[in-house]
Amino acid sequence: MPDETNKCYLDDNGYYRFKSNGELVHRWVARKMIYLPNRKQYPLPFFKYEIHHVNGNKRDNREDNLQILTQGQHETLHTCIELGKLGKAINRTSFRMMKHIFRIKF
Ligand SMILES: [Zn+2]
Repeated sequence: MPDETNKCYLDDNGYYRFKSNGELVHRWVARKMIYLPNRKQYPLPFFKYEIHHVNGNKRDNREDNLQILTQGQHETLHTCIELGKLGKAINRTSFRMMKHIFRIKF
């Protein structure tokens, strides 16, 4: 994990970037620590993947907090998270939507 105070800055979207080249720190960590050592699990080129922050904290770039997902997986996951937040407010319409979402193959 690079030293955030000296080598990185927080961009307008709340993500850390390297001062040297502007690269997003969470993508760098995900590529080096997860993608490259587990290449067989990730058949697509790295730029095709999105990185999810598991605990929702965009500044927490520890390896354990990062998940490499396709765009479709990432969208589905966030829809599920949002629906989960709705809790009791989930009505029949969104329940149908949820069933539709879970049919999407991961
Ligand atoms: Zn995410």
